[in-house]
Amino acid sequence: MLDTETFHRWIVETARLVEANADRLTSLDAAIGDADHGINLRRGFQAAVTALAEKPAATPGAVLATVGRALISKTGGASGPLYGTGFRHASKSLGEAAEVSELQLGAALAAAVAGIRQLGAAAEGDKTMVDAWTPAVAAYQSTVDGGGALAEATRAAADAAEGGLRSTVELQARKGRASYLGPRSVGHEDPGAASTVLLLRALATVTAE
Ligand code: ADP
Ligand code: MG
Ligand code: MG
Repeated sequence: MLDTETFHRWIVETARLVEANADRLTSLDAAIGDADHGINLRRGFQAAVTALAEKPAATPGAVLATVGRALISKTGGASGPLYGTGFRHASKSLGEAAEVSELQLGAALAAAVAGIRQLGAAAEGDKTMVDAWTPAVAAYQSTVDGGGALAEATRAAADAAEGGLRSTVELQARKGRASYLGPRSVGHEDPGAASTVLLLRALATVTAE
């Protein structure tokens, strides 16, 4: 079971990883976008950490609601509303539960990716964060379905997100700013898929045994 503190640590660890990788995220975005992805996410996750420190959340769902709100209001660009919506959908999925099971976390991750897909209208193969999220959620769920422990499932999710990120190199962007480049978007990792890996790596870290 995961408690509120674990969800809080997930966000703090994500903010730390975003900070450590902000320049790399921005360079990826410089290649096929407008060179602000690291800047946007750093601002957004710093705002999320500050919001959680100022008004501690009482449940896992409340942590994610606060993060969603902070990302939507403080992150510039396409990625803020997309991640923010993902967190809000995940929060709704958890409801008022004080502790979250492996299965509930899987449902929340699935709700997050569904929210992102609904808002962004991107499918797998469009070279977006969806290409990292979708295999990650599938890997999480199949690990849990196969009787795997939480730590194993979150590690599988992070590994699958990394596979998804690598798959974006060969793809031509069909959504977001990178799509303006047409065929010239091929040959680069998608920045949002790269930040999704960080988010899921942070989740694996805080749920590792
Ligand atoms: P902006 O492109 O507005 O500057 P960011 O640079 O912060 O915003 O984020 C870019 C990332 O957002 C992309 O790499 C991609 O993963 C993601 N993205 C953009 N548009 C969409 C969309 N319609 N659906 C899903 N993800 C998207
Ligand atoms: Mg950008
Ligand atoms: Mg921008």
